[in-house]
Amino acid sequence: MNTPPDLDSDGVRFNWNSLPVTRSELSNLAMPIGCLFTPLHNPDIPRLHTPLVLCTGCNATLNPMCAIDLVRRLWRCCLCCLENTFPLSHTSRLDVGAVPPEVQPGSSTVEYVLDRPPSCPPAYLYVIDTTLELLELAALKRTVLESVKLLPRGSLVGLVTYDKVVQVHQLGGFPATVCIAGDIKGYDTGRIQRILGIVGNRTRLWDHSQRYLSSTSEPFLSAVERLQTSKWESKIGERPLRATGTALAVTTALVSGIFRDFCAHVMLFSGGPATYGPGTVVPPSKASTLRSHSSIEKSDAKRYKSAYDFYASLLEGSTSISYSIFAGSYDQVGVYEMRRLCNDTGGAMVINDSFTTELFRQSFLAWISHIIQETIPGVSHVISTHLDATLEIFASSGLKVTGIIGHCRSLKEPGSCVHDEQVGKGLTRRWKMAAISPRHTYAVFFHVDSGHKPAPRELHFQFKTTYMHLGKMRVRVTTFTRPTSNMVDLVHGFDQEAAIVLLARLAVDRLERSFYDTFASLVQWLDATTIKLCKTFGTYTRGHPETFALGPTFTLFPQFVYHLRRSPFLQVFNSSPDVTAFYHHTLLRANAYDACVMVQPSLVAYSAVAEPSPVVLDETSLQPDQVLFLDAFFYVVIWYGSTAAQWRDAELDMADFSHVHRMFEGPKVEAAALLANRFPLPRYVMTDAGKSQARFLTCKLNPSGREGGIYGLVLTDGVSLYGYMREVTRLVVG
Ligand SMILES: [Zn+2]
Repeated sequence: MNTPPDLDSDGVRFNWNSLPVTRSELSNLAMPIGCLFTPLHNPDIPRLHTPLVLCTGCNATLNPMCAIDLVRRLWRCCLCCLENTFPLSHTSRLDVGAVPPEVQPGSSTVEYVLDRPPSCPPAYLYVIDTTLELLELAALKRTVLESVKLLPRGSLVGLVTYDKVVQVHQLGGFPATVCIAGDIKGYDTGRIQRILGIVGNRTRLWDHSQRYLSSTSEPFLSAVERLQTSKWESKIGERPLRATGTALAVTTALVSGIFRDFCAHVMLFSGGPATYGPGTVVPPSKASTLRSHSSIEKSDAKRYKSAYDFYASLLEGSTSISYSIFAGSYDQVGVYEMRRLCNDTGGAMVINDSFTTELFRQSFLAWISHIIQETIPGVSHVISTHLDATLEIFASSGLKVTGIIGHCRSLKEPGSCVHDEQVGKGLTRRWKMAAISPRHTYAVFFHVDSGHKPAPRELHFQFKTTYMHLGKMRVRVTTFTRPTSNMVDLVHGFDQEAAIVLLARLAVDRLERSFYDTFASLVQWLDATTIKLCKTFGTYTRGHPETFALGPTFTLFPQFVYHLRRSPFLQVFNSSPDVTAFYHHTLLRANAYDACVMVQPSLVAYSAVAEPSPVVLDETSLQPDQVLFLDAFFYVVIWYGSTAAQWRDAELDMADFSHVHRMFEGPKVEAAALLANRFPLPRYVMTDAGKSQARFLTCKLNPSGREGGIYGLVLTDGVSLYGYMREVTRLVVG
């Protein structure tokens, strides 16, 4: 796989960089026009401390694409073409003939730092499962204590713990906790708020809330240090009673009761499945097994639907609460039922076997950190998660936004640029991201109107992202254009890597919406998309497969689709529902580069006689005298061929065999560099040919020489890449 180019400085990658405008172009497109947008991608942009200058016609922000008239002190909006006068704040600069900073050429993305502080400080609520084993809870407590010093200054912190009872901790107050039964019947936010005493007018509410949310860390730290494992013993043959659903409901009621739009981040630390009260995913008895994809498909998972609906209902109270789930369990914890809490709000979803692992510790601390702290060992990178974000989209006349597939919620705000058919989360011009970071990428889809006469030469876009940055509100405005097919040929503007990632997001979105009904038709849809694209943009003589060829901007696309069909994003029946939820969640946040690696892993061969080089994902790449390095994003593998393993075990004097030494050290250096900047941390596998863990590598390899049968439009999953391409070609030219 070629390494995709970096994002441009605006954080935007389109599939079609030349926008189709004619009716025939639009009908032959095969896939919708879309872009991958990473709003906070670039830290190195102009920052302004002045108010935004807005168009009185469409409310878009002054930007470098606007024509300005310094003499008449006017600017023409590039989106709606209305002429606006400059505000008084700009006149002194204009008096001396200076161009305002937001219209200078390097200002396609600018960030405004607003004086307006947030209405209240952000709150971070830790929701901790106390049914954990002693060692698990001790490790989790250590990591939680470490994390508090990484929170933005001035944040509020709160603590909720649960087993069969939910305890809301009164930080520094008496009694130490308010207890709520885990099997609370007829869940009702108002009732929970009355139990917690958070009722009354705003001042009274704020006073009462300070029992639960502390602006100083000491009461929180001492409450965490005092935490003990659950006093309720499990019956023989039963799982611990965990009221995970009630714990999340109580936490949601707590923060939404204080302020309607209280900006809060709820972090769940769960050591096993919910077994008690609303949101239960499995009964306590170990004789009852956790649901699988096949049991859900056959409607045998009786608790699935009610649990899914229960967790989704928690989103109805407030758009400003984000949820992260950190699972530390060999068992599933019910992430699949809870997935919308993370996928709709921008929170993290990280599943690990245990809270004692460095994988958990480093992933969690990276997520919560804003700056690298030398005092926190092992945390080499930070995610810089910010809260309370919104994204607003403006577009030229003739362009309409159909929706976003990513970690956000539609705010259902109508506008002239909103299309009435939605892709993903649509029917709006504004979306809410309760949590956002430079690692959050959104797939934005558009509809181009073919009826404009004359057809435009270029079209304009403006994305306005508002978010809370360390206690201050910021607005980042990104404005850019794309030429239409009147100016640049469609073929030359095609970005096949962006296209496959957008296609993967469309596929996952369809699975998430109507999972089991659409699985078979989804594969057919992917094949049909590939064939239509090849028919439209390939060259061939009808009936002659040997004449088929694709231009350089399309050549990789069919093989990407081949790998997407085989990827865990679509081959869900090989995974548990929780793992599927984790894979889908991560893809729905990833940028183009990371998502390409997830779909089509990279494989590099190290040998004693040549420089390291990329090799194809094929069984023929398994050479005995080589070391292979596989990056599959969720895990990395260093694989030793049988001869290479013998050399390694012979403990050769590396002074005499420096070329062999390089072969062994190269993959380790590569892995270390990769681990230093990836979230969540991938699993690290070292294995030899023939060992059981070699399956992590071999399952990603093309089964050259083997063939499968017909399935979908093309072929089964066991087919080789060659067989797939041959069948696609046959259907294209036939
Ligand atoms: Zn305008």
